[in-house]
Amino acid sequence: KEFRNNVKPNWCPGCGDFSVQAAIQRAAANVGLEPEGLAVISGIGCSGRISGYVNAYGLHGIHGRALPIAQGVKLANRELTVIASGGDGDGFAIGMGHTVHAIRRNVDLTYIVMDNQIYGLTKGQTSPRSAEGFKTKSTPEGSIESTLSPLEIAMSAGATFIAQSFSSDLKQLTALIEAGLNHKGFSLINVFSPCVTFNKVNTYDWFKENIVNLDQFPDYDPTNRIAAMNKIMETNGMLTGLIYQNKERKSYEDMVSGFQTEGLANQDLSLSQEQFDKLVAEFK
Ligand code: SF4
Repeated sequence: KEFRNNVKPNWCPGCGDFSVQAAIQRAAANVGLEPEGLAVISGIGCSGRISGYVNAYGLHGIHGRALPIAQGVKLANRELTVIASGGDGDGFAIGMGHTVHAIRRNVDLTYIVMDNQIYGLTKGQTSPRSAEGFKTKSTPEGSIESTLSPLEIAMSAGATFIAQSFSSDLKQLTALIEAGLNHKGFSLINVFSPCVTFNKVNTYDWFKENIVNLDQFPDYDPTNRIAAMNKIMETNGMLTGLIYQNKERKSYEDMVSGFQTEGLANQDLSLSQEQFDKLVAEFK
């Protein structure tokens, strides 16, 4: 159960993504996976490199397209546990259409977003998660666009699992990834993962001062959808912990006809000549 490999990450020293890598490796071992039972599919960005830094099947996809690939992997082979991963620019800008529809489709996979509120790989431009007034090379007078709230969007899209954590809280982050891996459906885990090189506003100290940790509210009930939405809005999205979970809704592959027992890759698709001729005749 060794999910570490010998590839040295080329993230900047102090980047929050190191903790996400460690949490994925620990969570995968803690839930009893084997490396050959896990696939990590990533998009483009500094965080997208993570698929090469975990000892498992991995595919570094294209910008904003980690989720279509990850869903395809899961539907082809439902024996695999699938993690999709990337940054906030990847998943909440170019990839947002896929994110919303993957959420409502509820394929059984875990989507981990490393949210640093900036584009790091391209050296520091405003992302959909940047605050209004945020100054970068692309917005020298400050961003005039409103900040996107992925948690509110996920709630309204019908998410069955929403969590948020912080790179500095490895214990909570690992526990939430374990919960996501055990959830039978789509789990969204947004992680505040500071970019120490280009984001000098949303730093480790800034997050520590602004985060509301749900672990400190023992009465909080993550199965209550209205309470979850209220808490997200009350805290302006700055909360961490398990925010919402619906264990009742079945996953996509458990509902779609023909996928309940086997993924596409394991189905017997061989046809007799008679069946083949009949199929061709239907399309003439
Ligand atoms: Fe991490 Fe930012 Fe460096 Fe990218 S540029 S590796 S996000 S610290």
